[in-house]
Parts: sequence; structure tokens; C-alpha cells
Amino acid sequence: MEKRQLRIALAGNPNSGKTTIFNNLTGTRQKVGNWPGVTVEKKEGDIHKFGRDMRIIDLPGTYSLTPFSIEEIVARDFILDENPDVVIDIIDASNLERNLYLANQLRELDCKVIFALNMADVAKSRGFKIDAKKLSELLGVPVIFTVGNRNEGLDDLLKAAIALAESPLEIPEERRVRYSNDIESAIGELRDFIKLRVDATFSYNLRWTAVKLLEDDKIIKDRIREQVTAESESILTKAEKLRGKLGNRLDDDPEIVMTDDRYGFIAGTIKEVLSTSTLQRVDISRNIDLVLTNRFLGFPIFIFFIWAMFQTTFTLGAYPMEWIDAGVGGFSTFFEHVLPDSLLKDLIVDGIIAGVGSVIIFLPNILLLFFCIALFEDTGYMARAAFLMDKIMHLIGLHGKSFIPMLMGFGCSVPAIIATRSLESRKDRILTILITPFMSCSAKLPVYIALAGTFFAAHAGTVIFIIYLFGIFVAIVTGRLFRTALLRGEDAPFVMELPPYRVPMMKNLLIHMWDRSKMFLKKMGGIILAGSIVIWVLSSFPQNIQYSKDYDAQIAMVNQSYEQVMPGNEDDENSLRQQKDAQIHEISIAKKAERAEKSYIGRIGKAIEPVFQPIGIDWRGSVALLTGFVAKEIVISTMGVLYAAEGDGESDALSNALLKSGMTPLSALSMMIFVLLYIPCLATIGAITRETGSVKWTLFNIAFTTGVAWGMSFIVYQGGRLLGF
Ligand code: GDP
Ligand code: MG
Repeated sequence: MEKRQLRIALAGNPNSGKTTIFNNLTGTRQKVGNWPGVTVEKKEGDIHKFGRDMRIIDLPGTYSLTPFSIEEIVARDFILDENPDVVIDIIDASNLERNLYLANQLRELDCKVIFALNMADVAKSRGFKIDAKKLSELLGVPVIFTVGNRNEGLDDLLKAAIALAESPLEIPEERRVRYSNDIESAIGELRDFIKLRVDATFSYNLRWTAVKLLEDDKIIKDRIREQVTAESESILTKAEKLRGKLGNRLDDDPEIVMTDDRYGFIAGTIKEVLSTSTLQRVDISRNIDLVLTNRFLGFPIFIFFIWAMFQTTFTLGAYPMEWIDAGVGGFSTFFEHVLPDSLLKDLIVDGIIAGVGSVIIFLPNILLLFFCIALFEDTGYMARAAFLMDKIMHLIGLHGKSFIPMLMGFGCSVPAIIATRSLESRKDRILTILITPFMSCSAKLPVYIALAGTFFAAHAGTVIFIIYLFGIFVAIVTGRLFRTALLRGEDAPFVMELPPYRVPMMKNLLIHMWDRSKMFLKKMGGIILAGSIVIWVLSSFPQNIQYSKDYDAQIAMVNQSYEQVMPGNEDDENSLRQQKDAQIHEISIAKKAERAEKSYIGRIGKAIEPVFQPIGIDWRGSVALLTGFVAKEIVISTMGVLYAAEGDGESDALSNALLKSGMTPLSALSMMIFVLLYIPCLATIGAITRETGSVKWTLFNIAFTTGVAWGMSFIVYQGGRLLGF
């Protein structure tokens, strides 16, 4: 008989190792989406192990199941409505007390629960000893020790989950959380009342439903109204009456007393199962923090890490970049030779390969950047960075917490803007959203690398680092401005959590890195390919243009003149032929350049050139910037197509063409600053509109960023010229 697929949900506090365990269980078989109706990430994966098909679902990380946040509602609704076969609660064993709150709420829900005591290694190194057998007996729940990042105990965990799925559910009455007498009797009374008024289709555990109604849980009240239409009002009235009675007797809201009772239950459990050996309780994290969050050292170290990140991205990335570049060059030469001269050939070589090729070579840099960001996150350094920035963020009236979305903005503004949801105050959110696009995202990196690599060769890493710092600086200054002028208000006080440092696991770093880099590859095949084709079409048409000179005749003349002087000597012949080829090459480049200039795109470029001239950018750069608002990588692919018309199709084509184009280090710097600051890309504009819920703020942001970009580039370019650069 085919056994049906088991559905196993992973629940747990944030940072308990849920994602690590999920990744280890599912490997590459993951699907990522959103929970229906909300933008909370949903991850699931199908696996086959121990003879069973299983679907693993990663629930959002939560500290409890009270319906206060979207994450909590999503997690609870899933368990209530989808009835997973087993819920595995991933518990941070080094933080047992706090983690047991969620664990007990899961038990109360009356689903089949297993506890995974994860971070068993950390607990041990801190000198915590947990009596798992006793814990299991006390709570009536299977308990397994795991070390997620070393893949330890996960097989046992799965086996226990399968066994539990196949056994009947029984948490004996005496193993439940017990509330104080008044509450227990109210629960009993309400449960019996409900029991008489619902039929067999009612799917929630009755005791739990009674508990939730006494806590005045809005969502459960709505569910009662939906499911028990006839008797729902009498049930709710009864619950309200009991609540009132309890409130009078306890002199406090019942839910508060019930929460206290739960903590009491947990404290009791902890006493029974946890012992600490004081000898080993050296907290390594605290020692590391003495240095990394030190008042004087912390900030320089933070800056150093960021600098090191860009240095690595640039220098390490240069090697694979050369290989890919050579590969792209090879492709181009190959098609050059096998295809007959035609428009199609031009489209493929000068349009698609030149455009997409000029961006794809930055894949190694992007991978490295995301690897470094994953490293910051997984070691726990990210939270320290936010902590360090707290003081600076307070200068603009924001909390350090706002810096986490900003840091994420180094990767991509879209998730960064979504991440501002963690900020409570709407004004804080809007302020953070408005300044996040100034953080330099990974799509802008190819532009910097191409320009800085060409014009600041040896110092490229440092120049790019300065551009990034400049982005932070502009974000902070404009943030201050907005705070005083537009979005006045106090920053909400908040305790910053500093999770313990951890040695990150390679596999997870790679998965995190890959998750985010995939987007880059998707853009390659989509918007950048399309953009390259459009730019190529615009730069190749109209076909029959009036040239200012007769280039073909010039070429014929060169051919002819060499024909006459060809001597018999082989060496001389070779060098003469090279001379001839070089001259012809010059002429055909001049021809192509004139064609591009007279094409549609040339006309567009010439029309907008006056706007960009004061900041040192020629018509090609102007067009590139114009197209770049679709996606920032397109700036580079456009330049690839436009300059390819003049390059020689070999590797380094773009770089060579840039050097010949009349661009100077100063104008390159000006262009980088413009790209850093100007209008966010389409996807980001969409995210801003969605998250601020306001077209006005979006338009304001577009105008403001572009204005600031132009102003800053103007100051840098004209200032630089005055200083004689
Ligand atoms: P989540 O927030 O629950 O998804 O937690 P993650 O899976 O992102 O884990 C947070 C960090 O803890 C990562 O750096 C993991 O590598 C690390 N981690 C996970 N499990 C363990 C463990 O058992 N021991 C140790 N030392 N670290 C772990
Ligand atoms: Mg996670």
C-alpha cells in the first residue's frame, strides 16, 4: 500500500536554527514563496527518507502564538487549519526558558509536537545540562537533541517525527499547563458549554478554544462565528460573562494572569530539568563583544569589515571575471565567424552578446558580495552593526534597528524596503524607506567595477568602498533633513537583541548566497536581454543614413594602395598587412561611431545630452543612465551595446572603448555618484509604492533622489575641474 505523504512543520523562535535545520533536511529540494495573502516568506520542500514521502514546511519564527503579529497568525493558522501530521518545535537549548513559552503554546494547541533541543553544543559549552528524558516525561512530548549546523541528530528527529505521526495523539490531562483554580474552573465550564453547542465538524480542541475565548482572542471569536453559526452568539456571550467574572475576582485581565501562569509552569519545568555548572559559564560571545562593540574600537572595526568586504569582492572576483570575459569574447568571435554578414548576426554579436555579456561577467562579484552579507548575518555580526550604528542613527532620529534594512539594501532595495515592516512607527518606516535606495545595491556594483576598474585600476576597491560610504552619508544627511522638515517625531525606544556569535556553516552561507544571486541571473535572461535588444535596435536603425564621409571608398583606397606596394619578402609582407588591417579597422570604427550617433538612440542621446553635460557625461552615458531606471545593470549593458559598436569585440572591449571615449577619471567618478544616488529601479519604485501605500511619497522619492544625484555629481565634477583634475 502506498503510504501517504507526511506533512511536517518546523516551528520555533527566531534564531533557534530553524532555517539551518530546514536546509539540512531538504537540501536543494526547496520551494520559496509567500504565505497566501501576506508577504511573509513561505518555504517548503519534499523529501523521501526512511521509506516515507514527507513535506517539510518552515513556519515563520515566533516567540509565541498570540495573534499579535503577522508571523504569529500565519504560524498558528497553519497548524489550526492545515493540520500538519507533526510539528517539530526547534528550541534553542542554550535559551531554554524563553523558548519554552512557544513550546507550551504548541502543546496546548493539541497537535502532535516534538521538541528538537537544538544548539545542544552551545548549551553544553555554556555549562547547561538538560535532562531530556525528564523533560519528555514531564511534558509528554518526545525530545531529541540536535546540532543543526553539524547535521547531528536530524535523522533521529525525522524518525521520531514519523513514529509520532503514526501513533495516536495523547497528551495526558495531568501533563498540561495548569492554570490557577479560578481559571481552570472557568475553562472547564466554558468547555462543557461549547461541547453541547458544536457538532462533529468543529475541528479545534475544546479546551484550547475555551482558553482562547477567555483570553478574548479576536481571531478565534471570528472562527466561532464562521463555524458554529447557530450557537455562536450564545457561546461568545457565555465567554464574555466568564471573562468578566474572572476579571473581577482576579483584579486583572484574565489573559495577563494566564500568561503569568504559563511562565510559572515554565519556571517549574526549568527547575526540574536544567542544571548549570558554574565552572564553564564563560560566555564567549560576551568576550568577543568586549572588542567588537567596544566604544572606541567597534566603529573602526565595523568600517574595516565593510572595506574588507568590497576589497574581497573586487580582488577575488577579478579572476573568475577574466575567465568569463574571455568566454564571452570567444562566443562573440565564434558567431562573428560562423554567421554570414546580416542583421541577425549584428543583433547576436553587437546586441545580445555585447549587452548581456557585459553584465554577466559580474556574476562572481555579486556572488562574493552576497556571500559576505550572509557571513555577517550568520555569524551574528549584523546585529552588532545595527547596535554600533544606533548612536549615528539617533542623530537622524531613527533607531539602530532601522540600520538593518539599510544594510540589507547593499544587496537589494526591494527586500530591504519590505524589511522595514519590523519598525513599529509609520513615520520611522517611511523615513527608512525613503533613504534606503541611497544604499548602494548589488545591481549598481557592475557599473562601479566597470568604471572604477577602468579608470582607477589599482585603487578600484577603495574607490568603490568610498562610493558605498558616500551612499550611507547621503542617506544619513537626507534622513536628518526629512526628520526635521517632513516626518517629525520621536524614535520609539526599543531593546536591541544581540544573539550569540556563531560559527557559520558553509552550506548555509552558500544557500543564502545562491538564493539572492538567483535574482541576478533571472534578470539576465529577462529584462537585461530585452533591454539589450531594444538598445541594439535603436542604435542600428534607421539603416540607411547619410554618412559625412564615404568610408567604403576610403577602405577601398587603403586596400588599393597596399596592393601596389606588396613586396615579395614574407616578413615585410606580414607587417604591411598588419598596418593595412589597422588602418581599415580605424575607418570602420569611425563609420560605426557615426552610425550610432545618427541612429535613433544617438538622437535621443543628443537630445538629453545637455542635461548631463554639466556633470561630465556624454550622449552614450546619458542614454545608459536613462535606460538604467528599469534595472541598474542595464546601465552597463547599454554601454556594452553602444561602445561595442566601436570596440573590437575582443575581451576588455568595454574597458578599452571607455578609455578611448574621452571619459576621464573625474567624469567616471561623477557617473558613479549619479548611478549611486539617482532614481531607484522599477522594482524598488514598486516596493516603495506598496510599502508606503502612497503615490505621493513615491513621486517625491523619485524626484528627490534624482535631484540629489544631479547636484552631487555636479559638485564633484565641476569642483574636480576647478581643482585641476
Ligand atoms: P532561524 O532564525 O531559526 O531560521 O535560525 P538560523 O537557521 O538562521 O540559525 C541561526 C544561526 O545559528 C546560524 O548561524 C546557524 O549556522 C546557527 N546554528 C543553527 N543550529 C546550530 C547549532 O545547533 N549549533 C550552533 N552552534 N549553531 C547553530
Ligand atoms: Mg530563518
